[in-house]
Order: sequence, then structure tokens, then C-alpha cells
Amino acid sequence: MNILENQILYQCEYCKKSFITKQGAKNHEEKYCYLSPIPKRKWLEKVKSCEHEWETKLSPMAGEEHLLEPDYDYCIHCSVTEMELRKLLNA
Ligand SMILES: [Zn+2]
Ligand SMILES: [Zn+2]
Repeated sequence: MNILENQILYQCEYCKKSFITKQGAKNHEEKYCYLSPIPKRKWLEKVKSCEHEWETKLSPMAGEEHLLEPDYDYCIHCSVTEMELRKLLNA
């Protein structure tokens, strides 16, 4: 986390977004920043310790928007998809 000089502002060290409070910047870095490695790391920990429960995501069929077809399976707890999990296990 960077502290900007001459200003009472805190800056995300990943995407350079500024915040008025330190807590706001910290919160952003840990949860919301798309450039920060922290949310991903936390999510990975969650995925590893999760007892997955699968649900099938339905998506509209191409050309038949009113019809739904099974798209992919995802975990209702950690929201990992089957494909992502397979990749993680092979990594
Ligand atoms: Zn950020
Ligand atoms: Zn899960």
C-alpha cells in the first residue's frame, strides 16, 4: 500500500486507485482489486478447503434464447467451476 505525499490519501499498490481511508484501501486490495493477487489467493484457499456441492449453470441456447441448456457445473459454496478445478488440480 502506498501513502501519497502531501495528501491524506491511500493508494492501492496494484491498480493505483486512491482511497480516503486506510481501511478502505486495505479492503479494496484484499477483496475487490482485480489486479491484486490477494483475492485470488484467498479464493484458492477457500476452494481447497471447500467440500464442493455442484450445481449446473444453465445458459440460453444460441439462436434459441428462450431455451436453456446445461452450460457448466459450479460449486455453490466457492463458485469454482469444474473446469477451473481440473486446471487447479493439474497445476
Ligand atoms: Zn486496486
Ligand atoms: Zn466449493
